[in-house]
Amino acid sequence: MIHEILAVGPLQCNCSIIGDETTHEAMVIDPGDDIEDVLALVREHNLQVKQIVITHAHIDHVGGAMKLRAATGAPILLNENDYALLKMLDVQAAWIGVAAPGEVRIDQTVTTGDTVKAGAHQASVLHTPGHTEGSICLYFPAEKKLIAGDTLFAGSIGRTDLPGGSTQKIMQSLQGTVLALPDETLVVPGHGPLTTIGEERQRNPFLLRRSNRVD
Ligand SMILES: [Zn+2]
Repeated sequence: MIHEILAVGPLQCNCSIIGDETTHEAMVIDPGDDIEDVLALVREHNLQVKQIVITHAHIDHVGGAMKLRAATGAPILLNENDYALLKMLDVQAAWIGVAAPGEVRIDQTVTTGDTVKAGAHQASVLHTPGHTEGSICLYFPAEKKLIAGDTLFAGSIGRTDLPGGSTQKIMQSLQGTVLALPDETLVVPGHGPLTTIGEERQRNPFLLRRSNRVD
């Protein structure tokens, strides 16, 4: 598996380029910004982008999607529960003081039970609401790798104080879905350093607090 991770844009969103070294098919996850850098890596590995997958409709994850779509022709995939948030990109741009990227059009909704793929490398879509209503994670079972979006970070979890956020839902998603994955699963969060499910199960204070509750 070819897997390049670049921190893009002012909020340094982790954008993943995942490619099959045999078929050269690829997917790009969360092309928030810096699309020229993304395309340079795509060319360097001689890849053909077949899918653009968005973990959730925050501007730092989706802002460059239309530019990448225009350059590659690949469809954009997002869970439909985030379509309302996607219509607020101009408001989101004002929050963080960047230029609004214009309208982003989604080609296909994806949810639990769906599969996304880059050649032979397949990921299961896991709908994990909480950070936003339509947040998803992507789990590659053969590689034991999770692209977590802003649901889980090394030592932290996604904020739930923005529109569509729910602390109760993110805890359900983490305890019921994310922590059901094997300990050795490598986690690529939406921002910051990589971690593993086992590491977070043992040390993440947000997860420990919950699991230690006796009431
Ligand atoms: Zn976010």
